[in-house]
Amino acid sequence: MQGLMMDYQLTLTTIMRRAEVIFRNQEIATRQPDKSYHRYTYADWIKRTKQLALALKRLGVKEGDRVATFCWNHYQHHELYYGIPAMGGVLHTLNLRLGVDDLEYIVGHAQDKVLVIDDNLLPLYEKFKNRVKLDHVIVLSRSGQVPEGMLDYEKLLAAEDPIEFEYVDWDENKAIAMCYTSGTTGRPKGVVYSHRAMVLHSMAGGMSTTLALKDSDVVLPVVPMFHVNAWGIPFTAVMCGSKLVYPGPHMDPTSLLESYDSEKVTFTAGVPTIWFGILQLLDANPGAYDLKSLETLVVGGAAAPQSMIEGFEKRHNLKVVHAWGMTETSPMGTVSNLKSELSHLSDADKFSYRAKQGVPVPMVELRVRGEEGLVPFDGKSMGELEVRGPWVSSAYYKLESETDRFTDDGWFKTGDIATLDERGYMEIKDRSKDLVKSGGEWISSVDLENYIMGYESVAEAAVIAVPHPKWQERPLAVVVVAEGKTASREEIIEYLAKSFPKWWLPDDVVFVDEIPKTSVGKFKKLILREQFNDHLTG
Ligand code: AMP
Repeated sequence: MQGLMMDYQLTLTTIMRRAEVIFRNQEIATRQPDKSYHRYTYADWIKRTKQLALALKRLGVKEGDRVATFCWNHYQHHELYYGIPAMGGVLHTLNLRLGVDDLEYIVGHAQDKVLVIDDNLLPLYEKFKNRVKLDHVIVLSRSGQVPEGMLDYEKLLAAEDPIEFEYVDWDENKAIAMCYTSGTTGRPKGVVYSHRAMVLHSMAGGMSTTLALKDSDVVLPVVPMFHVNAWGIPFTAVMCGSKLVYPGPHMDPTSLLESYDSEKVTFTAGVPTIWFGILQLLDANPGAYDLKSLETLVVGGAAAPQSMIEGFEKRHNLKVVHAWGMTETSPMGTVSNLKSELSHLSDADKFSYRAKQGVPVPMVELRVRGEEGLVPFDGKSMGELEVRGPWVSSAYYKLESETDRFTDDGWFKTGDIATLDERGYMEIKDRSKDLVKSGGEWISSVDLENYIMGYESVAEAAVIAVPHPKWQERPLAVVVVAEGKTASREEIIEYLAKSFPKWWLPDDVVFVDEIPKTSVGKFKKLILREQFNDHLTG
């Protein structure tokens, strides 16, 4: 017997329609480049989003076309988050921190038709504009001036009457957004999100056992809007009716603390590097900011050390919530709230639980596979973490036949090495991905070492991740000089700088006689990591 419920489609447009009525007076504030705030209501946002949807249609954007954004966190990006899917397009957020080769590849691979760009990012676009083919470039211009051949976002919107906009009941499995992940070796891979996945992900984010967003919250996403849809916060916050505060280009600790204080922010989220900076500033200036409203600081994207979680709580009475996720998991996978059954524990034990990556949120399932198959939930047995759920990728864009990241029974292989305990808490122990995660962004060690090995005086090179106090990990190059040749650290860094962004360059180059190898000739990076673990911190 079948249930007799409506086959109601779970779409972003339903979130938008509801917010238009129920939360019309809620505010969205944005810190502008000059540090003043732009403010408007949800009603204003919806009106402009409708104008945007109409403008894109007039420009010839068709259902399924990709519209790329190259923007900071601000209200216009928020309009794009909804306006593009509302007219049937696919929002493709480009990572501002990628090198030009990757950007060229990603724009080409996604076949982006239109690019929407902040005026202050045009110099970055200059570097790859001749390598990509786009129908239109739309500029978010603060001066009203746009370079020749490009379009002005505000003028496009002003030409449209929002009354003309009609909501479409899209199929819930239709694509709404895509992000490329560099979280594996090889070329970046496209992850494609659907209406349904985003709606369910947003509902899960409102639950009291996860992020517990509500309409009295003031939410400031520090996580960039090009990083897994700002962890879905622009969708979850609107579903829950929260006030949003976007930091614009001001992601430095002082500016963030100013906004937390003046906007009475209750909820904020970002990678550990952000919180290290903020903790240092708070320690140096106790009492300088009024943070009484701030209830939750979500830390994810890389491991949050227990010392940091304790530092915020013990010294500043601020609660850090550790979470784990991936581009492929939309990203919310686990959240580390303390379960009520653990409330009797000592403070030290409570902190050690909260420093784990947490328990899977409802609808996400985790398991760990060791050498000999699935391992028990005992908190000790390690292996690769596998995940499944309604907002977990089932394939990569235009790589549908490449299935090596998926198990035969339909789980996604994360590449993270983890344990699961009897209460379901997951803890990441290591990473099988050959990458460095610096300040929450990936650096491919393979790309760097292959390039170094192309240098005439180098015989072999391995690049490893080494712990760093600010960025968590930084690349270190371990190099064997070719016989009869000489090479210096400066030479190698200078050589790399020709092809890689500055933040990718190894912090140091060490010279060795030999790189340890496995029986099949692969670099034994684990041994190098142990050997050079203290190299940057002494
Ligand atoms: P990305 O797709 O760039 O968001 O990266 C996802 C990867 O970041 C995961 O597979 C982990 O390796 C890492 N990661 C994310 N959150 C955490 C966390 N809380 N602790 C440790 N590693 C994390």
